[in-house]
Amino acid sequence: MEIYYILDASAFINGYRPSSENNYTVPEITAEIKDFQSRLLYDNLVDEGKLIVKQVSDKYINKVDSAILKSGDILRLSTPDKRIIALAVMFSDEGKSVNVISDDYTIQNTLKIMNIPFSSIIMDGIKEIYNWKKICVGCKKEFQEDYPFDDCDVCGSDIIKKRIKVNK
Ligand SMILES: [Zn+2]
Repeated sequence: MEIYYILDASAFINGYRPSSENNYTVPEITAEIKDFQSRLLYDNLVDEGKLIVKQVSDKYINKVDSAILKSGDILRLSTPDKRIIALAVMFSDEGKSVNVISDDYTIQNTLKIMNIPFSSIIMDGIKEIYNWKKICVGCKKEFQEDYPFDDCDVCGSDIIKKRIKVNK
């Protein structure tokens, strides 16, 4: 069955790369993706026809509001967040199978309450993963994680820990 992926702001912020063409979001999301990288990703996906921006009717927003009234999340969900969830409710109502792509805990919690499937970008390993490496600030020599000294055995400079990208 075809899955409709719904992308929230964190999907863009965390650099989600869709593997299918079936991606949706709401217009209000642009208020939450103001940084250059996220906005570029959003614009590119729209230009490539991989992201469809869809309006949600108030009917579904109200459904979300009433579902989360008791959880307390109603106060923490932004308007775009609520509309993202409402879009998932709308698609579900239309008999579509949905998967919301979000790293936002409040959104995930609400989706859990409403029985809507979701995936986390970072947990799924879709995002690049990072590791730490020991490196000399002087000669740039790299050391194993278990190298026991604070200074370089070549030039004597300090060794620092650096975050490096690991290609999966
Ligand atoms: Zn060195």
